[in-house]
Amino acid sequence: MKKIALLAALVCAAVIVTCYTNPETGRKGLMLLNSSQEASLGLSAFQDIKKNTPRTTNASEQALVEKVGRKISGVVKLSNAQWEYVCFKSEEPNAFCLPGGKIGVYNAILPITQNEAGLAAVMGHEVAHATARHGGERMSESLLISLGGIALDVAMAEKPEETRQLALGAYGVGTTLGRTLPHSRSQELEADRMGLLYMARAGYDPREAVKFWKRFKDFKGAGGSVPAFLSTHPTDDRRIAQLEELMPEAIAEYEKHRK
Ligand SMILES: [Zn+2]
Repeated sequence: MKKIALLAALVCAAVIVTCYTNPETGRKGLMLLNSSQEASLGLSAFQDIKKNTPRTTNASEQALVEKVGRKISGVVKLSNAQWEYVCFKSEEPNAFCLPGGKIGVYNAILPITQNEAGLAAVMGHEVAHATARHGGERMSESLLISLGGIALDVAMAEKPEETRQLALGAYGVGTTLGRTLPHSRSQELEADRMGLLYMARAGYDPREAVKFWKRFKDFKGAGGSVPAFLSTHPTDDRRIAQLEELMPEAIAEYEKHRK
């Protein structure tokens, strides 16, 4: 990862336009894509996933994902978003939000989220990855490392399949060919922080986020499989500690939006 950071810093120093600053946190990252390119990558990745992953057959699971998804997306700004919420049938407890507002929840996570607010914690976190453009940042790193930093449209034209696989990996969706890149520790903590405020603004009690992460820790402790999106860094304890630090601010948001 140090190598990536160094390369990113070099590219950022050379071409100022490839840098992106997160408006919420001020963190800088490499960005070789504009947001409409990102949205179209997200859309084609989502079409791919829908083709290859069965949907849940349980209508109430789909309805729940849609209900919580609408509330969360109602309080965020995501460029070029055409929101869509799909509950997939999968043994892996996982969820994602692709650029362009394409949200997927794997139904194996529902026993751990347990209630609407628990699911809002997960979806808030995933939507935050999209609004913070973490996937675009990782896609840029992938382009830099695997394809020598060529522009996305050139990559698409010359190596469409390779570019598609890079995108899926960068957006945290496992594929048979590509590998999933774990989010960095700073991206995870950023998504936790933003996601907590999103769920509060959407009218969900932010204290439920801490409860979810504790249940998730127990699930892993009991030998449950760990999905890539919720990978080992930061540790669950570090996440929970940060969420607890942010709780007064989040509760104030919640009280404001509750009525
Ligand atoms: Zn994450």
